[in-house]
Parts: sequence; C-alpha cells; structure tokens
Amino acid sequence: MTIRQWLLAVFAAHMVWVGAALAQVTAPAPVAPDEFRVTLLGTGSPAPVMRRFGPGVLVQAGGKTLLIDCGRGTTQRLMQSGLRLGQVDALFLTHLHSDHIVGIPDLWLTGWLEASYAQRQGPFVVYGPAGTQGMMDGLAKAYDWDIQARIADQDLKPANIRSVVSEFKPGVIYDQGGVKVTAIEVDHGELLKPAFGFRIDYAGRSVTISGDTRFSENLIDKATGTDLLIHQVAAVREALLASPVFKVILSHHTRPEEAGTVFTRVKPRLAVYYHFVLLGTPAIPAVTEKDVVEMTRKTYGGPLVIGEDLMAFRIDKDQVVPLQAKAP
Ligand SMILES: [Zn+2]
Ligand SMILES: [Zn+2]
Repeated sequence: MTIRQWLLAVFAAHMVWVGAALAQVTAPAPVAPDEFRVTLLGTGSPAPVMRRFGPGVLVQAGGKTLLIDCGRGTTQRLMQSGLRLGQVDALFLTHLHSDHIVGIPDLWLTGWLEASYAQRQGPFVVYGPAGTQGMMDGLAKAYDWDIQARIADQDLKPANIRSVVSEFKPGVIYDQGGVKVTAIEVDHGELLKPAFGFRIDYAGRSVTISGDTRFSENLIDKATGTDLLIHQVAAVREALLASPVFKVILSHHTRPEEAGTVFTRVKPRLAVYYHFVLLGTPAIPAVTEKDVVEMTRKTYGGPLVIGEDLMAFRIDKDQVVPLQAKAP
C-alpha cells in the first residue's frame, strides 16, 4: 500500500466513523415497549457554550415521555434525540432559576406548530414548584401577539397552546401508566427555596436526578436503591474561593468530593454527572472534568460517568447500560 492509498483508507475509515456518529444523532433507535431510557439533553449551566446546552433530561418509560427541566437548547436536543417536540407528555421543573427554564418558550410555542417536527396534540403540561403558574401566565402574556396571530392566520388550535400547570409539594406528584415521579426537596440555599430533585420509578427500576442542590441528606435518603443517579457538580480552584462571587455560587451546589459521598451512600448502579458548574477566570483556569473525576475518587470508588449532551442510558432490571455516547 502506498502512503497515498494508506491516507485514503484512513480518511475513508474516518468518514465512516463520522457518518455513523451523525446517523446516531439523527436517528437513534426507537424506545422498545418495556425499555426505560434516560437521555441527557443538556448537561451545562448558564454558560452559553455549544458543547453543553442548558439542563434537560429526557425520561422515556412505560410509553411516557417526560422532560426534567428545559434549559437553553432543549428543543434542539429533543429533535436530535429523534422525537417530535409534541411528543413530550409532561415537563417537570426542579426550580425556577433561568438556566432550567429559559428553553420553555421555545418548546411550548414551537411544539405547537403544524410542522412534522412539532404537532403537540393537547395542552402543554407542566409540573413545577410554587411560582410556575405565574411564570406560565406571564409567558402567555408575553407571546400573546404570536399566539393570536397563529390562531387567526394558521388556524392553529387554541387548546394546544394552553398550559396546564400543577404546582407540587414534596412526594409523589405523577403516577400514570406505571410511571411514578416523586419530588424530592433538596437544598439549593436559604434564599432559593423551593428546589427539588426527582426520582422516576418504572417496573422496579429507577433514575434519580438531583436538580441544583448542596449536599443533601434528603436526596440521599430518597434516592436509596435507585439504579441511575444523575447529579450536578460544581468546582473552582482553591484560589478563587476567596472571591465572594464564586463563594456564593459554590455555596449553592455540590462539590465533587461531596457528590462522591452521596454516590458512596446511595450506591447506584451508575452515577452520572450533569449540570457542570466549573468556573474560572482568565488568570485562573476552570477545574477540568478530569480534575472532577479525581476529586470524586477521594470519596467514591464506584461506576462514574462524565455526562455529555445526548448521552443515553438504558435501565434494565439488573444493570444500567450506557448507550453510545453521541457527541453533538
Ligand atoms: Zn439553580
Ligand atoms: Zn442551575
């Protein structure tokens, strides 16, 4: 083989790989009838970066399609995960910080359109903490021109742009088709109440999602026995902790060593990080994901994955299977 042939072969093999990766992004396998699948739609925080969109976790089980939080880019990631926007049965909000809800107008309004990628049949169903009804009422007011125009001009159905909001307290807040969602009160800080995580149980299997929280004993308690634990993480280098700005942000979140303790006590089959809050300055770089793993290893020796957008997991009876990671 000449060098040219070899280079062409390498190039061809690379293109096959890229092609396969793209195919997975555009056409993931449909969810099997008894499958319990969890897809990370967004693993970021407020930073507007392409690699990590805002928080959003898709849970598909028992024929239900549930969405936990709706951060920036959730609508695009839903499309990439192979769903119509109108297929989301219900949205569950951990709390009302903007990074968790800024994608709502997009999903709500775009999901209403007649285009093949949208087509919501029925109201936009939202389960959220106190304040959610007011927020959705405010959105209806803010987008009133668009809503009225599309009803008059495109004959879109008013019933499908209506939102139905349930403001919940801790406990079981959803129980349909064998899928149970439990709201777990977490501790995001004294001035940031209420804030919740969620545990979703289906057919003897479960996923627990932390939402935004400091180290939370209640989360550990309610997550006990869960198969898949998806937890947020925040870290800065020691030198930045003196700054009040970083101090406040860190005080609202869980650090890697603390999350490791949570994982060690909950003992999930698999622990996954999402909602990365890794802050830095031009002078002091951000903690890396590799650092996060090392810090976590001080307190946890079990299975751990650094979540990526569009990474998916299948929860079986006796194992959690990471499906092919799909870099966007
Ligand atoms: Zn928050
Ligand atoms: Zn957040």
